[in-house]
Amino acid sequence: MKTDVQIAQEAKMLPIIEIANKLGIKEEEITAYGKDKAKIDLKVLTDREDKEDGKLILVTAINPTPAGEGKTTVNIGLSMALNRLGYNAVTAVREPSLGPSFGIKGGAAGGGYAQVVPMEDINMHFTGDMHAITTSHNLISALLDNHIQQGNALKIDTRRIIWKRVLDMNDRALRNIVIGLGGKSNGVPREDGFDITVASEIMAILCLSKDLMDLKERVGNILVAYSTENKPIFVKDLNAQGAVALVMKDAIKPNLVQTLENTPAFVHGGPFANIAHGCNSMIATQMALKTADYVITEAGFGADLGAEKFFDIKSRFGNLKPNATVIVATVRALKYNGGVDKKELQAENLEALKKGFVNLKRHIENVHKFGVPAVVAINRFPTDTEAELKYVQEETEKLGSVAVLTEVFAKGGEGGEDLAKAVIKTIEEKESNYKPLYDVNLSIKEKIETIAREIYRAGSVVYTKSVEKKIKDIEAIGLDKMPICMAKTQYSFSDDPKLLGAPEGFELTISDIKVSNGAGFIVALTGDIMTMPGLPKVPAANNIDIKEDGEIVGLF
Ligand code: ADP
Ligand code: MG
Repeated sequence: MKTDVQIAQEAKMLPIIEIANKLGIKEEEITAYGKDKAKIDLKVLTDREDKEDGKLILVTAINPTPAGEGKTTVNIGLSMALNRLGYNAVTAVREPSLGPSFGIKGGAAGGGYAQVVPMEDINMHFTGDMHAITTSHNLISALLDNHIQQGNALKIDTRRIIWKRVLDMNDRALRNIVIGLGGKSNGVPREDGFDITVASEIMAILCLSKDLMDLKERVGNILVAYSTENKPIFVKDLNAQGAVALVMKDAIKPNLVQTLENTPAFVHGGPFANIAHGCNSMIATQMALKTADYVITEAGFGADLGAEKFFDIKSRFGNLKPNATVIVATVRALKYNGGVDKKELQAENLEALKKGFVNLKRHIENVHKFGVPAVVAINRFPTDTEAELKYVQEETEKLGSVAVLTEVFAKGGEGGEDLAKAVIKTIEEKESNYKPLYDVNLSIKEKIETIAREIYRAGSVVYTKSVEKKIKDIEAIGLDKMPICMAKTQYSFSDDPKLLGAPEGFELTISDIKVSNGAGFIVALTGDIMTMPGLPKVPAANNIDIKEDGEIVGLF
């Protein structure tokens, strides 16, 4: 079997201008980055303000195994399948972070015969968006520490600085550091640390902004610290937002590439799916809606996190009207949810499949709570047996939904035609009555408890003492009327990654709470959430190489 990078390198790519033309985007509206990548001017969006939007399809998933269940792969495959059937469809997905590419998860440009290309660029530096975000974030850090060095007129409390530094690398040694050592001329010593670039609030802001001026305003509103008098300190107090906006002037433009079957693909923005909302940029999604009839997008992690935040944060902010949801399920993840050890997932096990099916059932119910119809895509793996596939299809039908066998990894767009037909049929026959789950004007606790009760099915929510205090602080400065961004394990509906299937009545503990005032949400954290990943014993980087003749290996 060929590796992803082998398949990708055999792709016959079209010049990027031809891809843009397929969307009605003209040469003067793009900036080409070489032959096969381009950034698209925001004018494409403003010029088409009066044009009707295309249909919006969200791809989400059940609770996964640690290997990932194929949302991106199915997403790209579905866009190719729709094009094969004659529909004008594009995918709008996130851009990969370099850190995980060198670590364990592998790339994020799809897999097998459902990929976006050039995958070796998309997975590496691409068009430099990650670097712009890293620079912007660290510029704020530098200005902040310089302010303290130069007399600290704002009276920033060096023990209450929220803003860390970032790097697009998995490097656990940087999680907690001390800076400013070496005497008076080398800064004021204080504790600091690094997060990975995609966890930066700048990334979340990039992905929620309407345009560059909106980005600038949001950056100014980032809460970075508290003063010794307990006053909030914002980026605008450091007057950094103008310089940041300049650094971000190209990063804000959506990137256009193509799939293996030469259909257009927007790949732009990639915020963390825990401490941020985990969706590609709003601008790219809206541009896709103005230039295509069908837009397939994705939200990170399972539907309990990804879909909930897509509906409650992104769709709310962008006034999006999602028409349908595709829930990706795999036989292996259902068996995993049924209690099978991850080493035994290859063997047929109908008992475990039955036990784990409750997970899919609940995700379907949950998506319906947002008023959006759902189609299940069974992402087929070579080890799935006929009996297992049949079981998932029949049980889903009993729930009044449809589960479609999807083989885009092995067959490309052709393997997704049945799914494409089912999605079109759903959009045509079932009306979407999308609505968010809660009103932002509820109290912080009421909002958290609504998500916990309706989506996770928790019995109760408990708050640590320090969280209770932080909630009061947030209310006191009037920043509490924003949506909640839940940070939780992706493996369970609960905050315990080992509680699989469809647990209910459990206690959900909120261990920390933080305002992302620029992005416009309040992050509620459960359990330990890692914002700077580490590398595994054998990192993917050890197998990545480029040969003398330019051949690239080890990129999954
Ligand atoms: P997600 O977006 O849900 O994290 P991805 O689409 O990135 O998932 O897929 C996770 C991994 O699984 C990737 O390495 C991908 O190539 C692989 N994969 C996805 N679908 C299949 C499949 N049907 N058969 C084999 N491998 C697959
Ligand atoms: Mg993905």
